Amino acid sequence: MYLEDAHRKVSQAIHDLAEPIIQLSHKIHDNPETSLNEHQAAQWITEFLSERGFRVRKPLAGMDTAFLGEMGAEKPVVAFLLEYDALPEIGHACGHNLIAAGGLAAGAALASLGTDLPGTVQVIGTPGEEKDGGKIIELEAGVFTEVDAALMFHPGSTTMMWRHSTAVVELTVQFHGVAAHAAGSPQQGRNALAAMIQFFVAVDGMRQHIAETSRLHGIIRHGGSAANVIPDFTEAEMLVRAITSDDTRALLERVRACAEGAALATGCTVTFAEGPLYSERKNNHTLATRVGEYLQSLGHPLEEPILKGGTGSSDIGNVSLAIPAIHPYLAIAPQGTPGHSIRMRDYAGSDEAQQAMLHMAEALAHAGVDLMFDPDFLALVKSEFAVSGPDLPA
Ligand SMILES: [Zn+2]
Ligand SMILES: [Zn+2]
Repeated sequence: MYLEDAHRKVSQAIHDLAEPIIQLSHKIHDNPETSLNEHQAAQWITEFLSERGFRVRKPLAGMDTAFLGEMGAEKPVVAFLLEYDALPEIGHACGHNLIAAGGLAAGAALASLGTDLPGTVQVIGTPGEEKDGGKIIELEAGVFTEVDAALMFHPGSTTMMWRHSTAVVELTVQFHGVAAHAAGSPQQGRNALAAMIQFFVAVDGMRQHIAETSRLHGIIRHGGSAANVIPDFTEAEMLVRAITSDDTRALLERVRACAEGAALATGCTVTFAEGPLYSERKNNHTLATRVGEYLQSLGHPLEEPILKGGTGSSDIGNVSLAIPAIHPYLAIAPQGTPGHSIRMRDYAGSDEAQQAMLHMAEALAHAGVDLMFDPDFLALVKSEFAVSGPDLPA
């Protein structure tokens, strides 16, 4: 099959898939499921894949809500990555319903080339982006070993083909004290809430002395059970972010020291649990630029990538350091609309967002065609990967 014919077929496929894809996007949006609890979304997406002839593996990498759909044979392997987790209480305020539907549409459109496919299309379900690092678990389980390029996108308020992202690790901090009657015998108690307060004050005291691009933000999950009992147990969740993984590990040690100091001062003990470390991001500019060209031709003007300041994090970072990967952004809301907000959630369910998502799916599918049918383009993508480093803020 000629390259032009493949591009034409892929555009037609996106057109044909529009209705069921939009329905699926709305269904996921209306039924938000949090990190690693995305059972319905994973079920709906894998049914969609099976119905269209994909070989489906689920569960994947030890996660019930992870999956891999595959069509074709041999190399190159082009993977579209899907996210579908929502946030507690505010639902799909990160718009992952669009990531899921758009990635699925791109994969299904490329797979519609059937026996003409010179390689393998994979649609990989990567659960738990907001909290549990599903992609990191999959990476460690070898899911991406044979993948030549991984493509996904993220909705937001700006259309830009790449940006940097900070590394992050979640630290759970638990203080253990001694319970006692808060009025009758407080001298016999050791106050785990006092330790927790000291910990947050110590972290705040450190803020002036960390890099401007670093971020420390946490919540107290458990602060005690009754006001007339000296709390013998408290728990907090603290996110530690810095520009690189190394800087994040160094900052994490300082945060742990704050907690150890607070425990010592209050006669309590402290225990820690660390989540997966989300890495900084290495965008493949060759591949992302190509996606941008297609997206522009579909009527979406591009903004310059923002490479300054602190920003959010994603487990695509870890994947992007291992294989060529892209994570472009698609505007579905007016410039400046904050992520993780009620407004962003409502935009992610709007008709306009579904149309924009289909355009992004088409752009990703066209880039997939180029990766499969044009060995020179794939070689360019790979040679950039071999020599480039992560994107870092100026
Ligand atoms: Zn997100
Ligand atoms: Zn998010």
